Amino acid sequence: MQISFKAFGTYNQIITEDEHCQALLDECRRICEAIEEKFSTFRPASIISDISAHAGVRPIAIDEETFFMLKRAQDFSNLSKGAFDITIRPATALWGIGKKGDFIPDGQEIGRLHELVDYRDLILDKKNGTALLQKAGQQIDLGGIAKGYAADKTREYLMQNGCRTALINFGGNIATIGGKRNGEFWQIGVQNPLAKRGEFIGTVGLSDQTMVTSGVNERFFIHGGKRYHHILDPRTCYPADSSLLSVTVIGTRSIDMDALSTALFVLGPDEGAKLANQMGCHALFILTTQQIFATEGFTKILKRKV
Ligand code: ADP
Ligand code: MG
Repeated sequence: MQISFKAFGTYNQIITEDEHCQALLDECRRICEAIEEKFSTFRPASIISDISAHAGVRPIAIDEETFFMLKRAQDFSNLSKGAFDITIRPATALWGIGKKGDFIPDGQEIGRLHELVDYRDLILDKKNGTALLQKAGQQIDLGGIAKGYAADKTREYLMQNGCRTALINFGGNIATIGGKRNGEFWQIGVQNPLAKRGEFIGTVGLSDQTMVTSGVNERFFIHGGKRYHHILDPRTCYPADSSLLSVTVIGTRSIDMDALSTALFVLGPDEGAKLANQMGCHALFILTTQQIFATEGFTKILKRKV
């Protein structure tokens, strides 16, 4: 049985081979809608909009869940030395990639925004349960981490309610519970970033793991022969120019893999592979030359398409 629904600006699907799970799947949809409502940059009533609206003014009271999410994002900013940065919103708003169409902002305007993008300006106060963006004009964008968090919450909920086998796919953000009932792994394709959705360079078998891809194939435009995509380098506020078409990572927690895949895309294959290994995860990079570069762990489990 399965459920499909739209949320987080993408298509989401949950498949289970367990019977009598329909009510659970319906509840998963509600869980995702609640996460979107709470954490979306595009909902004026979300806690994220509230923190951004009070940047440079005052701290905002946040609950434990919001604290967890912001803290995890900041941990990844530290780990990636700022390649992942949820204060990127002023830049993602200006570019509007996937929204405004073929739009290249003025260089000066980008320069002006640049100083607003700095994760170190997000002050999380655990004791008082507050979050503050220090500079007026700063804004948060959880687009690089929210789907992973939602996948973890969905997985947790299903497991707590007795579900033993499931495949959760939130816009390419994959999380699994167990394998399939016949004892086989879930077979998941690694998208070919230059082909249409569903065309794979190979597959991996997953059981209880999560696999997340960040790539240039969904939201981008081409201008003057150059590809402008939606993953920005916080150090320049331009689309990350790291010689990559996509990065796929495999690990245990989806929130972590979501943040990591975005971070690795910005870092590029050399530094990226180091960070993935340091974190005990597998990573596969598809370069703009279409060459594939993968960590040893990923190479071992990838079944290449012949
Ligand atoms: P997708 O959401 O397409 O699956 P990602 O997880 O890589 O892909 O997230 C990209 C989104 O994250 C962008 O749309 C934007 O909202 C946000 N973002 C872009 N660049 C960064 C960055 N360097 N650090 C953190 N978030 C980013
Ligand atoms: Mg991500």
